[in-house]
Amino acid sequence: MKTSKLALLGFASLSFVMGGCGHSGDSTPINPPGDARDALAQHDGAIDVSDSTPRADAELPDTTNPIRVIDERCTDGEVHRNEVLPIRSDITDLLNAFSANNKLAWSIQVLNRRYPTGGLILEKANNDTNCFDVGVSGASSATEVLAGLRTSVHECGHMVDLNQKTFVLGKSLSYDCDFAVVADTPPRRILVDDEYQALWPKDEFKQDYLVDLGDQALAYLMTEALQYINTLATSYALYDYAPFDPIARDGTHAFQWYVTRYLRLLRMNYSTQYSRAAGDRCWRRLVLAGWGRAHRYLAASKGMPDLGGADDALLERLVTTPELVDEIRRLRVADGCP
Ligand SMILES: [Zn+2]
Repeated sequence: MKTSKLALLGFASLSFVMGGCGHSGDSTPINPPGDARDALAQHDGAIDVSDSTPRADAELPDTTNPIRVIDERCTDGEVHRNEVLPIRSDITDLLNAFSANNKLAWSIQVLNRRYPTGGLILEKANNDTNCFDVGVSGASSATEVLAGLRTSVHECGHMVDLNQKTFVLGKSLSYDCDFAVVADTPPRRILVDDEYQALWPKDEFKQDYLVDLGDQALAYLMTEALQYINTLATSYALYDYAPFDPIARDGTHAFQWYVTRYLRLLRMNYSTQYSRAAGDRCWRRLVLAGWGRAHRYLAASKGMPDLGGADDALLERLVTTPELVDEIRRLRVADGCP
């Protein structure tokens, strides 16, 4: 069984000016116990998911109305629909022109052809805090650089999000949200003790992101969620050259799961902070847009070997737990959408 150890190394080596993105530890995938799986709602992973076996202690969704994972009428659906999936354009001319002395400019050229959002992010970040180097510093060949770009785009995405205060989700899609609006949101370590965390016994992200970096709040939770989408999108775009990246789907799933769980706790236990965040058009649309992009790439990459770990199916069910998807619906309603 393969592990994602190699793919994790890049994430462990960068400390941020404004926070961090650590990811290390044993990532050997192990199937969760059957009871954890059985406790979860079963569905086929389609866009619409009908309610089934909701948790007794949670707010019950309206079962006469199927819960929409993606609502095509709202911001998440619009972003989902408008995301242009990479078609893996030919880059052999660039491979032949590779020079180890010019890796950043070369990588931007590659990404502009394969995943233009990633190219834009590398360009805007301009190796801020060595974010580009994190993925490619040891790479001396074109294919080694290609394998590192998923990490470089992810880390440079954090720099743009946090240091430039603009969340870049596409060439013509960015959100300049006011960080002061969410400044007093609670630390994300509140997720460790909720009733969902135990449903993924082999959570590879918990220790780093919910414990070691557990002080970080909503803005940092969002940048992490958004950058794991970039990890997945970059790996998807370069899959013909660098296919091995099991944390791409795992991280994308995990952080969308975290975001909805965080929204739920915020709404129930921190109503002032919830009202401010959900009442702010920029922040609520950022969440909805991230949700839409995440599900676009999760759908596109479903079943692709090496882009997900052994718990992929479990994670898909966790992310589409009806009462958690309902948190997305609440943001749509706050946004004036059905
Ligand atoms: Zn990160």
